[in-house]
Amino acid sequence: MRFITYNATNFRKIEYLRYLPESVKKEIEIVAKVIPFKTNNYVVDYLIDWENYETDPIYILNFPNRHMLSPIQYARVEEAVNKKWSKVELYKVINAIRMELNPHPAQQMTNVPKLNGETLNGVQHKYRDIVLFFPTQGQSCHAHCTFCFRWPQFTKELDLQFSMREIDKVIDYIEINKDVNEILFTGGDPMIMSPETLTTYIDRIIERKPAHLQTIRFGTKSLSYWPFTFLPEFSKEAEDMLSLFRKITSNGLHLSFMAHFNHPVELDNHVVQEAILNIRHTGAEIRTQAPVLNHINNSSEIWAEMWKKQVNLGLIPYYMFIERETGPFEYFKVPLADIYRMYNKAIKLTGSLAKTVTAPVMSASKGKVQIMGIVENPLDGKDYFMLQYIRHRDFNQTYKPFFMSFNPSATWVDQLEEVSI
Ligand code: SF4
Repeated sequence: MRFITYNATNFRKIEYLRYLPESVKKEIEIVAKVIPFKTNNYVVDYLIDWENYETDPIYILNFPNRHMLSPIQYARVEEAVNKKWSKVELYKVINAIRMELNPHPAQQMTNVPKLNGETLNGVQHKYRDIVLFFPTQGQSCHAHCTFCFRWPQFTKELDLQFSMREIDKVIDYIEINKDVNEILFTGGDPMIMSPETLTTYIDRIIERKPAHLQTIRFGTKSLSYWPFTFLPEFSKEAEDMLSLFRKITSNGLHLSFMAHFNHPVELDNHVVQEAILNIRHTGAEIRTQAPVLNHINNSSEIWAEMWKKQVNLGLIPYYMFIERETGPFEYFKVPLADIYRMYNKAIKLTGSLAKTVTAPVMSASKGKVQIMGIVENPLDGKDYFMLQYIRHRDFNQTYKPFFMSFNPSATWVDQLEEVSI
């Protein structure tokens, strides 16, 4: 199958768009000026129920809609488009709105390390045992999620982009930092790279392999957005990609494929199921993760169904995240209390093999903080959140339960106050 990309300029070629009124197509064009928009023929043909597009989770996941901007932001872009402002003036409006959408949440840019005084502008090192590597050629995806927390990576403004090619500098850094035993290739999506490009990175890691490095992870949504990457009957490149995975595992490195699934429908067809099988046969493990998103998967039944299907396909449920405060967060946000209750019901609906999931978790500036419960204090009769850091910049702060004030509408940990009870 040939990969066909649709974006803000050519999406009207999608045949199914006959189901959409002209006003909706116009809205897509306007919002896509701000929110990076990209989809492809697999998503369009296999995943979206076009007759019910307005409530279809994958349509909402891929196609921008006017509610993803505030009415004022939408009106500002609409005016610039309708009045045919110059490119320069239009980009001023777009960039101003992008900066209002909190492009770098959770102080991500404070985790960038230095090597011999040089900033590694494509590496993040927040937790002592893992470094994140953003390879330059992997800073896009087969399609773009409208909620994406890394959306600045897909804009053309260079000062918002973060990536590098020099794998030797990354390995030098790992060699010095003996606590690092994992490297996570992330983006974007590293599986957007050709196997040839990815091999240049992986071969250097295998050749120089620091003794303490044990695991390579790929953070990827390719199983949802382009599973043909792993189907040799469709391309020689797919066989090369699977061979590369075998090379990693046969060289004594653990390969963990961190797959991103937002909804059970992404697991339902034979293409993705065959791709999963092929990856597992290379010796790689596939772990799954996704955030809770209003309009897409904010329901216990959806999560329980998704985890059950994942387990049946040999996948390991890993994280249920809470959506970060960035991009169209207002549209996708769900209060913490609702997410906790939803998770609590969902996990009870699953068998024990799905209980590998850690949930619900916020990737906050200090670390990954998990909501462990909503607890009533018998002394004052009030509810409190019980939380713990499962990952923290300061290793000594992990796995220590603590309490915070209860606020039924809070959507992020910084809206709560720490209390001692
Ligand atoms: S796959 Fe990940 S990085 Fe790519 S658009 Fe979706 S959330 Fe963003």
